[in-house]
Amino acid sequence: MKFGFPELPYEINALEPFISGKTLKYHHEKYHQVYVENLNRLIMGTKFENKDLETIIKVAEGAIFNNAALAWNHSFYFSELKTGNNQILKGTFARVIKRNFGSVRFFKEMFTGSAVSLLGSGWIWLILNQKGSMEIIHESNAGNPLRRGLIPLLTCDVWEHAYYLDYKNRRSDYLEAFWKLINWELIEKRYDDAGKESKGS
Ligand code: MN
Repeated sequence: MKFGFPELPYEINALEPFISGKTLKYHHEKYHQVYVENLNRLIMGTKFENKDLETIIKVAEGAIFNNAALAWNHSFYFSELKTGNNQILKGTFARVIKRNFGSVRFFKEMFTGSAVSLLGSGWIWLILNQKGSMEIIHESNAGNPLRRGLIPLLTCDVWEHAYYLDYKNRRSDYLEAFWKLINWELIEKRYDDAGKESKGS
């Protein structure tokens, strides 16, 4: 299976002033695209050639795993952001977050705290575990929770390339910006779909 390179679901400067068009273009074309191209090249002639992306993430090792996970993670990250300033977490899904974390504020603090304390490159995830409870976890480098049987709902890319042009080394400022861009309706949909899937299986 040759993997396509997904276009961004918004204009290149749609996330300004929180994430600049320059950062987004660089991130999408110099990182995401390269991971997809590497993956397509690496799987040629291997047992992964005709596998879907999630299967590759679950079983591959080394460079094939790294590029597959980074291709997936970036699609997941870019698709969950939304133009229009200050997306607010409210309604039914805010109540779900409150049930899992105590309050939306505490959830945000935990998520940001996890991002700030992660040493080096990686990803912060809101996931659903096998018991159907939410957790915030971090993964270094190309890490992806699918590999551990967890269901990803939200991710923040905390590799420096995601924010350095806009925020230099100030990862917590980037997190504040990221928070204003999250498309909560989509995260809620991911959560609802995960519930349907687990009931169906
Ligand atoms: Mn990235």
